[in-house]
Amino acid sequence: LARPELATQPVYEPGKPIEDVARELGLAVADITKLASNENPFGPSPLGIAAAQHALTHSELYPDGDCVALRARLAAYWQLSPRAFVVGNGSNEIIELLGHAFLRPGDEVVMGSCAFVVYKLVSLLFGAKPVEVPMRADFAHDLDAMLAAVTAHTRLVFVASPNNPTGRAHSQAELLAFARALPPHVVLCIDEAYAEYLDPAAAPDLCELIAEGRHVICLRTFSKVYGLAGLRIGYGYASEELVGLLNRVRQPFNVNAISQAAARAALDDVDFVARCRRENARGLRQLEVGLAERGVEFVASAANFILLKVGDGVRCFQWMQTQGMIVRPVASYGLPEWIRLTVGTAAQNARFLSLLDEFLAKAR
Ligand code: PMP
Repeated sequence: LARPELATQPVYEPGKPIEDVARELGLAVADITKLASNENPFGPSPLGIAAAQHALTHSELYPDGDCVALRARLAAYWQLSPRAFVVGNGSNEIIELLGHAFLRPGDEVVMGSCAFVVYKLVSLLFGAKPVEVPMRADFAHDLDAMLAAVTAHTRLVFVASPNNPTGRAHSQAELLAFARALPPHVVLCIDEAYAEYLDPAAAPDLCELIAEGRHVICLRTFSKVYGLAGLRIGYGYASEELVGLLNRVRQPFNVNAISQAAARAALDDVDFVARCRRENARGLRQLEVGLAERGVEFVASAANFILLKVGDGVRCFQWMQTQGMIVRPVASYGLPEWIRLTVGTAAQNARFLSLLDEFLAKAR
């Protein structure tokens, strides 16, 4: 009955729900520490949650299908036209919309070999071929090699900065030069899911690519620094022409009213965002110092997570889970010796480091 390609389509495997882990261990949910999905350990934006609660009282109405109010707010925030924005059910949905709009069977999609798995899933879903370009030795994207991998069949190129799962970021100059060097038959998606964690003074401003009319879309999400992962809302900014194409392939009411209200308010929650950014930098330093003291190799990160080398990543993940600590193995990214850890609160980071001592002592 189904399309034959679905027989070989990989399925995204989310981690086990925290409630299930707690039940299996006979613990309360509050006793489980989840540092596996790069969520915000400081909770959701309080302004966002207040707005969501208010919006809930009007749930009999369909949402604003064009996200007019949110796009107006984003336009003011970015100094771009409201027509430069497309809002999605998580930035994941926008990655899928790119597939709908641009991919036919046989097309090629260029991405890094250690890149967010959804780029590959979406490519395969539309019958396109993921072309995975090896990362540099420092775990950053090899932008020169990615450029060289572009052929006449390439339709999409994905670059995340900071990149998940490696945490490496590119400078504004590198990203602008890369975007300008790509041929015009290619759409570049610059995934900035973690960009709010960059030092604001050093964060790339890519709006000039939009003004130049490049075939570029930049993605942002409310799932990370704004702490709204459970509400599923993200957005892209691009030329009006590109946004117009994505609007043709999206569902009429793809983003619910509660999430739209929360996102709008969260954009104004500047104190919360500043605090999360500050605490994340502090937590990252705590982990880096702790790992260096233990002689554990790690990749310097610009995001809210860190890759570290533990020997056997799957065993480490499994053992940590028995202790009520959920981390992310990255064997599927070709990194069997590593795990990815979300930066937690100071207490969560300390608990992880002490469990790491136990794991390493056992492994020796
Ligand atoms: N891009 C990257 C690089 C990510 O790591 C994630 C979340 N893990 C996403 C996009 C998707 O985020 P969301 O759908 O929650 O907006």
